[in-house]
This record gives sequence, C-alpha cells and structure tokens, in this order.
Amino acid sequence: MATETRTFDIIIIGAGPAGLAAGLYAGRNMENAVLVESKAPGGQLLNTELVEDYPGIKSILGGDLAAAMLDQALSFGAEIVPGEVTRIHVAKDGVKTVETTEGTLRAPAVIITAGGNPRKLGIPGEEEFAGRGVSYCAVCDGAFFRDVPLAVIGGGDAALEEGAFLTRYASRVSIIHRRDQFRAQGLLVDEARRNPKVDFIMDTVVDSIGGNDKVQSLALRNLSSGEQSTLDVGGAFIFVGFIPNTELVDMHIDHDKSGYYITDPFTMMTSVPGIFAAGDVRSQLTRQITTAVGDATTATIAASKWVEEWRRNRQDTAAMLADDMISGAV
Ligand SMILES: Cc1cc2nc3c(=O)[nH]c(=O)nc-3n(C[C@H](O)[C@H](O)[C@H](O)COP(=O)(O)OP(=O)(O)OC[C@H]3O[C@@H](n4cnc5c(N)ncnc54)[C@H](O)[C@@H]3O)c2cc1C
Repeated sequence: MATETRTFDIIIIGAGPAGLAAGLYAGRNMENAVLVESKAPGGQLLNTELVEDYPGIKSILGGDLAAAMLDQALSFGAEIVPGEVTRIHVAKDGVKTVETTEGTLRAPAVIITAGGNPRKLGIPGEEEFAGRGVSYCAVCDGAFFRDVPLAVIGGGDAALEEGAFLTRYASRVSIIHRRDQFRAQGLLVDEARRNPKVDFIMDTVVDSIGGNDKVQSLALRNLSSGEQSTLDVGGAFIFVGFIPNTELVDMHIDHDKSGYYITDPFTMMTSVPGIFAAGDVRSQLTRQITTAVGDATTATIAASKWVEEWRRNRQDTAAMLADDMISGAV
C-alpha cells in the first residue's frame, strides 16, 4: 500500500461512463485531476450486452463502448489509479481527503461518479440469463423484445412505469408482484389497469428463471395458496430497486428518499461545497449513458471553476490575514 498522500485539484470517484467523461474533459482541459476506480474501468457498461441508444453509434457492445471511452480519456492524459474509495473527509478549509484502499488523495474538489447497482432478486437463473433475457432497464433493452411476452417483476413506480413502456414492444406484459397491493402511485396503477397489453400476477414470487440460451419461462409460486405454475416469457425485467453508491462522505449531503444525491442543475454541485455528483448517483428522471456523460461534462467544468474561485478566496484570506498582522490587528 502506498503511504504518500498525493494532491490534486479534482478527484473523480469511479470510472464508469460518467467518470470517464469527466476524465476526458479534465485531461483535455489540462486539469490536475485523477480518477479512482475499484474495478475495471467501464462501470455498468461491462454488464451491458448491446448499446443502441448512444448518439453517433448505431450499435455497439457495452464492453467495446467502455474500451473506446477509456482509450479516449487516456489519450487526453487522464490518470486513473486503482483503489476503492472507503471514506471522504471534508476539512473546514474545504480540502477533501479521499481515503482509498491504495492510499490517500487530497483535493479541493471531488466529483462522485460511483454509480450504483440494480437490486437483484438472487434467484436461480438471474445471473445466468443476465443480458440474455434478464434485464434491469426497459429504456435500454426494451427494443430487443419485439412481439414477445415479457414479465416485469416488482411493485413500485419503476415496475409500473417501465412495464407500461415495454408494452410498446412486447405482445403482453405480465407484472408480477409479491404483495396483493402495489407500492406504486395510484395513477400509475390505474394507467396500467387500463392498458390492454398489461396483466397482473399478484401475491406471487418468481422462484427461478429458466431457458436454453435465452429466457423462456419463469417458475412462479403464489404466496397465499402455495400453488406453483410456469409462465412462458421471452424476457424478465426486474425492478426491485437500485442501490446508489452514496455512502462515502463523512458528512450529510442532501439526497432524495431513495438515497440519490440532489445536485444544483446548473453545476451538478451537491449541498457540500466542492463535492459534485454525476451519473447514476444523482437524483434525476432517468439513468442512461447519455445523461451520465452529460452530467459529468457539466460537473467537470463547474468543478474547475469552483477550484479557481476557492483558490482566489484562500489567497484573499491569506492576504487579509497578512495585512491584519502587519497592522497589528491579529
Ligand atoms: C444491464 C444494463 C444494461 C444497460 N443498458 C443501457 C443502454 O443500453 N443504454 C443506456 O443509456 N444505459 C444503459 N444502462 C444504464 C447505464 O449503464 C448507466 O446509466 C451508466 O453506466 C451510469 O454510469 P455511471 O458512470 O454513473 O455509473 P456506473 O456505470 O455504475 O460506474 C460507476 C463506477 O464507479 C466505480 N465505483 C463505485 N464505487 C466505488 C468506490 N467506492 N471506489 C472506487 N470506484 C468505485 C464502479 O466500480 C464503476 O466502475 C444499462 C445498465 C445495465 C445495468
């Protein structure tokens, strides 16, 4: 483990699409910045089969898009250091100390692009068929499932909204929920009830996901009667929550009820001065690659301006203190 503390102007936490876009802008604008990544650069792109909604690229494997983003950021001089960020301390003077498993870094500005992960059901077949019929994102993958029956698993707003969205493509959408009432807003439930392509399977859990090379069926169990059944589907969309990686800072940062950071829309700054957030950690309408890189662009430019301002204020304060000392006020 390195013991030396390195100092930068901007530390970017996570090298998914948002972090790599921040690294690209920071490198190209000659910022004194660094990215810290605990795994392989690319984030959720590394779990994504095909991306068809990134402007300018008709169709690309998630892994190839990640490699291209990494290559571009490195070509402009972005520095990526390995390590998991375990804690961020904020000092009174605004300097942030970022502790990682590989050493300590310091900077006045931090951009958190640590993303998050969809909550999993943890049932047999879920991992095996991920990207082959099991999906956690309707906007991303819905278009791959035209004229086939789909299942949506979950009972919150995301399940109902994404289920309705999937009816654009699917021949039928069965929403499977383990309770007999939805947690989702009544309006969304009413809309789904009116949709002729949607049916509901309540009080029921999915015990396993089956198929050959792609998803073909779900094994269901009714929680009241214990009755078991099989549902034939071409895909299973799981919406049982998303866990944002927003537990790193040692002080309160304003967040929404699901734990996502609330940011200033103009700068992407959180409620803590000098801490910015971009991508899937941020409270917003949707979580996409395009929104992640857009947020990161804004956050990096705003962080750079913030650091300049912070430095100027420090110099002014130091100059004022020096004047006071000369005049005997201190
Ligand atoms: C299966 C799947 C398919 C998808 N398909 C599409 C699609 O087709 N189109 C689309 O637009 N979107 C798609 N998405 C959504 C898209 O991938 C995300 O919106 C996007 O990756 C968010 O980027 P991000 O950089 O904010 O976060 P992430 O991609 O989650 O990257 C965060 C990075 O931070 C790192 N990290 C986390 N914690 C730490 C820590 N403590 N220390 C250091 N590093 C850390 C992680 O290892 C990761 O590399 C898909 C998502 C999934 C799961």
